[in-house]
Amino acid sequence: MLLRSLNPYLVARGDDVEDAVTVGDTVLSRSDLIGAATSVAERIAGVDRVAVWAEPTARTVVAVVGALIAGVAVVPVAPDSGPAELDHVLADSGARAWLGVAPEHAGGLPTVPVRMHARSWHSYPEPAGESTALVLYTSGTTGPPKGVLLSRDALARGLDALAEAWAWTPNDTVVHGLPLYHVHGLVLGILGSLRIGSRVVHTVKPTPERYAATRGTVYFGVPTVWSRIAADEESARALSRARLLVSGSAPLPVPVFEKLAAFTGIAPIERYGMSETLITVSTRADGERRPGWVGLPLRGIETRLRAEDGTDIPHDGESIGSLQLRGRFFDGYLGRPEATAATWTDDGWFVTGDVAAIDAEGFHRIVGRESTDLIKTGGYRVGAGEVETAILGVPGVGEVAVVGLPDDDLGQRIVAFVVPDSGADVDPDAVIDHVAQQLSAHKRPREVRFVESLPRNAMGKVRKALLE
Ligand code: ATP
Ligand code: MG
Repeated sequence: MLLRSLNPYLVARGDDVEDAVTVGDTVLSRSDLIGAATSVAERIAGVDRVAVWAEPTARTVVAVVGALIAGVAVVPVAPDSGPAELDHVLADSGARAWLGVAPEHAGGLPTVPVRMHARSWHSYPEPAGESTALVLYTSGTTGPPKGVLLSRDALARGLDALAEAWAWTPNDTVVHGLPLYHVHGLVLGILGSLRIGSRVVHTVKPTPERYAATRGTVYFGVPTVWSRIAADEESARALSRARLLVSGSAPLPVPVFEKLAAFTGIAPIERYGMSETLITVSTRADGERRPGWVGLPLRGIETRLRAEDGTDIPHDGESIGSLQLRGRFFDGYLGRPEATAATWTDDGWFVTGDVAAIDAEGFHRIVGRESTDLIKTGGYRVGAGEVETAILGVPGVGEVAVVGLPDDDLGQRIVAFVVPDSGADVDPDAVIDHVAQQLSAHKRPREVRFVESLPRNAMGKVRKALLE
């Protein structure tokens, strides 16, 4: 089959499909996409690495697929990057050219145009599985984004394990409106659909109305997207025809899970992953879905919990520890051998930097990041997420982020940053009392601060280091 022989890492299983990829108003058939992408491949053969200004357009998809066909590594660049961020990514990634559209601040790199209606059926040798397919920058939640080297094999392995867990098939239509420069939108949403052979519809913006206007079987969203959908009953109900509603990239608040389930009749799938490892833990299409829990390890992945002194933490569902993973993941951070080495233990486990609990059935609960979500206060360790979940139960609280701020007496004191619902009047003492009643007294915030919004990045993740 023509498409398969072009590149087994972009398997478009089956014959041509008229509407294989839709981005906004542009619809590409599978043969349109492969034809245009192959013509891109011809133009960049021999280039080492290209940058793609990853606007949510069909051109971006053609550019990325073209580079994958040519065996050229792609560096997707966030289209909201400012000049300083662009300088960082261009210097750091070693990209040699822009493929498609270049930003105004192009960093002196040449631009190779991408023609949407060009055709080439020239066939390419299959790039080696271990060659770099993507240099994907992390979300930069905890520091400057790091370039994660992902091979073709890593993408293929990760996507196939996910397809199995979600019973994802060519009969599916995936819908999302997420950025095309991270794992979630690009690898899962676009490349996943191409590999598995499902259709994909990118809504350009991930609004409830746009999601509701589509006829997908599988919807992807980050928690902020699901939270907006859960607040819009009509849009939420429109998704009740779907097969799976999938949340990831950050914790899905329990009240959002519950509202979505009530409006759509579908309990959302939650999955946990990182740029470095792709998705490693997920609830299954045919398995239990528990609010606040992200499910079981995918095929080929093992997990364990470690204490600070390196001892094992029991899998009893309550005890928390540093989450470590075993499997075949990324090929390191570009140009950062020390940071790369620091992510592996001596016995070969990947250190996620996240804290989790695992129960006897192997279900995982992500407590949060070791650096910002594990608060050490008065001799106790408190997970920020647990306090956040309790505070979301206070009437009038719209959003909340809980952090530990330095405290002479307690080491860290728990501080809650609360965004009230519009027009709501929330009493800070009511917040504190509610937590003290719902959880143990030492988990109550010592202070409640009201803010208009929380500092979030493009994936909707709260940048807690900015809350002080
Ligand atoms: P940086 O590494 O630059 O600070 P980042 O860690 O946010 O940014 P990503 O690789 O995009 O960059 O995100 C991985 C992180 O996202 C995980 O380590 C975890 O903290 C969080 N995460 C992903 N999925 C979930 C989930 N389902 N629940 C809770 N947290 C999640
Ligand atoms: Mg990270």
